[in-house]
Amino acid sequence: PGLFKSLVYSKHDVDNCSSVLNVQTYTPIQEIENSIVLRMLAFPINPSDVNQLQGVYPSLPHKSLNYQTLEPSAIAGNEGVYEVIHVPNRFQNLKKGDWVIPTMANTGTWTNYQLVYDESELIKVNGLDLFTAATIGVNGVTAYQLVNNFIKWNYHENNWLVQNAGNSTVSKMVSQIAKVNNIKTLNVVRDRKTPEQFDELATMLQGKFGATKVISESQNNDKIFNKQELPKILGKDARIRLALNSVGGKSSSSIARKLEKDGLMLTYGGMSKQPVTLPTSLLIFKNITCAGYWVTELNKKDPQSKVDTINDLIQLYKSGNFVSPKEDIETLEWDTEKFNDDDILKLVQNGITSTNGKKKVVVL
Ligand code: NDP
Repeated sequence: PGLFKSLVYSKHDVDNCSSVLNVQTYTPIQEIENSIVLRMLAFPINPSDVNQLQGVYPSLPHKSLNYQTLEPSAIAGNEGVYEVIHVPNRFQNLKKGDWVIPTMANTGTWTNYQLVYDESELIKVNGLDLFTAATIGVNGVTAYQLVNNFIKWNYHENNWLVQNAGNSTVSKMVSQIAKVNNIKTLNVVRDRKTPEQFDELATMLQGKFGATKVISESQNNDKIFNKQELPKILGKDARIRLALNSVGGKSSSSIARKLEKDGLMLTYGGMSKQPVTLPTSLLIFKNITCAGYWVTELNKKDPQSKVDTINDLIQLYKSGNFVSPKEDIETLEWDTEKFNDDDILKLVQNGITSTNGKKKVVVL
C-alpha cells in the first residue's frame, strides 16, 4: 500500500461536527506483512456517522494514539467496501481482489487503507456493484432484518407494512425485500412543494423500488382519508401487522394507528427529532407493541446473523430483486493521486453539510 491517510477525530461538536475531522497520515502500528491489507473503494456518509462526530451516538469507537495524533483519536465511519490487496498465508477464505465489508461497526472506514488481523472481521461481498456493496452493511441489513426478523408472516395473506420516511435509503430497500416476500408496502413521504413533485416521487418509489402505494404525511394524518380512502387502497382482508418508524412525532402516531390489533411498531430512527407518542387506547385496546431496532447492537450480539443477512441480500441482488442505489447517490470523488489533505477534508466536510437530500458516497 501507499501512505495511510484517514479522516480522524479526537473531539466531538454537536453544532459543527465536520470541524472535528482531520486528515491524518501515519504509519500503522501493526505489521503489514502479517495483516490482511485492504484498499478502500467506497464509503457512505450515514446519519449515524454524523451522530458519532456530534458525540450524540451511544456507540463510539475506542480512541487511541495508533494514528500518531497528539490526542487519542479514532477513524470516522462505520461501513464501506474494501478490496483485499494482501492476505497472509494463514488465511484460507480470502484472496487478493475479493471485495469485503467490515463485520462490526466502529472499525473506522473513512480511510484509504485499513489493516485487519483476522478474516472473521470481514464479510465477502463479491458480485455486488460498488454502491450496493458500500451501503449494504448498515442500511441493507437493517431493512432486511426489520422486514424478516420480527413478524412470522403468513405469505398467503394480504400482508402490508407501513413505513414513514418512505423514500429513505432504508425504506427503498424495505420495499424491495417486502415485495419478494409478498408483503405490500404503504410508504408515507413528507409532502412535496407541488403535486407534480409528489407524483414524480411516488412513481419512482412504486416503479423502481417496488413500493405498493405512496401517500403523503397529510394523508397519513387525515382521519377522513384513513377511514374512507385507505381501506380501498389496502383491499379485502388486509393485515397491517408491522409499522416501521424512522421519523417520530405525529408521523409515528399516525402510522401506529394503522396497525391491526396486536401489531408491532419498530422505531429505528428519529429524523424529526420529536419523541414517539402513542394514543393510550392503542396500547390498551389494540395491544400494540412499540419496540426499538438497532443494527449495531443486534449484530454485536450475533455477528453470524449479519453474515447470514448479507448472504441472503447478495442472493436477492443476483436474482435481480434488489436495485442498486447508484442513481440516488451523489458520488464524491477522493482522487488519491491528486488530492492533498485539504482537498480530502473539504470533500468529506461538504458531504456532511450538504442538504440536497441525496445519500453521499465517497469513491476512491
Ligand atoms: P436517508 O438519508 O437515505 O433518508 C433520510 C430520510 O429522512 C428521507 O426520507 C427524508 O425525507 C427523511 N427526513 C429528513 N429529515 C426529516 C425530518 N425532519 N422529518 C421527517 N423526515 C425527515 O437515510 P437512511 O436511509 O440512511 O437512514 C434513515 C434513518 O434510519 C436515519 O434516522 C438513520 O439514523 C436510521 N437508521 C437506523 C438504524 C438502526 O439500526 N436503528 C440503521 C440504519 C439507519 P425527505 O425526502 O422528505 O427529506
